[in-house]
Amino acid sequence: MTCSLVWLRDDLRVADNPALVAAVDRGEPVVVVFILDEVSPGIRPLGGATKWWLHHSLTALRDKLHRLGGELILRQGAAPDIIRSLIRETGATALYWNRRYGKPERDMDASIKEYAKASGLEAHSFQANLLFEPWTVRTGSGTPYTVFTPFWKSCINRPTPPRLPAPTPESITSPATLPDSDVLESWNLLPTNPNWALAFPVRWTVGENGAHAALERFFAGRIDRYAKGRDFPAEYSTSELSPHLRWGEISPFQIWHATDEFRRDHGNSAEISTNAAKFLAELGWREFSYHLLYHWPDLATVNFDARFNHFPWGEPDPEILEAWQQGRTGIPMVDAGMRELWQTGYMHNRVRMIAASFLIKNLLIDWRVGEAWFWDTLVDADPASNAASWQWVAGSGADAAPYFRVFNPVLQADKFDPKKEYLHRYLGEYEHPMLSGYPEPIVDLLESRNRALEAFKTLADVP
Ligand code: FAD
Repeated sequence: MTCSLVWLRDDLRVADNPALVAAVDRGEPVVVVFILDEVSPGIRPLGGATKWWLHHSLTALRDKLHRLGGELILRQGAAPDIIRSLIRETGATALYWNRRYGKPERDMDASIKEYAKASGLEAHSFQANLLFEPWTVRTGSGTPYTVFTPFWKSCINRPTPPRLPAPTPESITSPATLPDSDVLESWNLLPTNPNWALAFPVRWTVGENGAHAALERFFAGRIDRYAKGRDFPAEYSTSELSPHLRWGEISPFQIWHATDEFRRDHGNSAEISTNAAKFLAELGWREFSYHLLYHWPDLATVNFDARFNHFPWGEPDPEILEAWQQGRTGIPMVDAGMRELWQTGYMHNRVRMIAASFLIKNLLIDWRVGEAWFWDTLVDADPASNAASWQWVAGSGADAAPYFRVFNPVLQADKFDPKKEYLHRYLGEYEHPMLSGYPEPIVDLLESRNRALEAFKTLADVP
């Protein structure tokens, strides 16, 4: 008795899942596995908020698989060992997965493919989580793009658009005897003592259904004001798809074609087309971030612009850092953002830029310290987008904001939260600072801005 093994990773969905479709089409019984690998060299351990998401996402996926007649096998440990062991246990003769783009993950997949080949097994990998494979997007001179606009232009002007989403398999046949599975609860992915994620379910419906509901909600009104509204944190104008995309509960192909269909259904009106193009361009930033990660695998730890290697960050003052992490800097827009993050596992993009700029520029703390905090606390913590965005704000990244751009959090709040709705939403005591003991600013904004400009000026002298 043989079977096919599908190894799911960042693609926790049954719709538009080419690896799953190919395994089912092969006609043998199918074993679907997810491996929690926190031990293989180079694999970055998940942050707390993403673990919370993963727990619920696996629960939702298991339910989806059950409805199709399948089962989800859970294993914990070094993925290559577990795959080898599952091949022995199940007698699998073919392996299927969708591609990943981090270097340690790619190396691991390549070594497993080698092993499969040497053992006479089939191994098939598929494009599922990026619209454009990073190695296929090149400048005229054959180098990877380092500037977003020409990158995205070259992607969207290709003669053939991204492929259509693959259909969900009608049913999945499991082998008569399934291999053992861990019990999800034994992985302890959910926080306890304290359970800091108590309010997360108010904002999020995790899983494939939740992802599609978020997309529907986006089309049901948010998209109409996306291009302008996406900068106003009090408005719910963005899709909030990022954590769903992080775990592949929805694919960029599904989003691309649904957006295209929406545009056509609205007669390609100029307004809808502008909003739709802006939305797809943001998906483009996700693609660009992965393009960077693929070509510069150390994106989360090494300055893209080597001049920044000479910048003397120094050790952060623990009290100052804690004030930033806990939203007690005395700078309302920064604090509101950091509290949104803590309460919901998410922060609006505009406020992410403000909070990150404040840490890097006004507090002169290394962007990697902020990146690590976001990695631990964001439900959408993403190896490519988080690293690329932090480097973007620092000025050390590809196509980054210039280092002399220092967001002024007060002016930003006036401009993007004119009615102070966002501030009031996350900063209850803001209305009554004298009564509640809202902290005084931990730095003077003007002084710290000038200090940053002086410090960053030294970069101009680095060859
Ligand atoms: P929408 O505006 O609806 O955009 C649709 C999708 O496009 C998003 O879901 C996301 O996948 C992608 N996208 C949008 N903006 C960006 C961007 N600037 N860079 C890359 N992709 C983008 N995004 C993450 O997904 N994970 C992260 O870990 C992450 N860390 C960030 C850290 C900092 C310091 C900053 C400034 C930004 C970060 N972003 C990150 C990008 C952005 O803030 C989020 O993708 C966005 O806020 C998600 O909300 P949304 O789904 O409603 O976005």
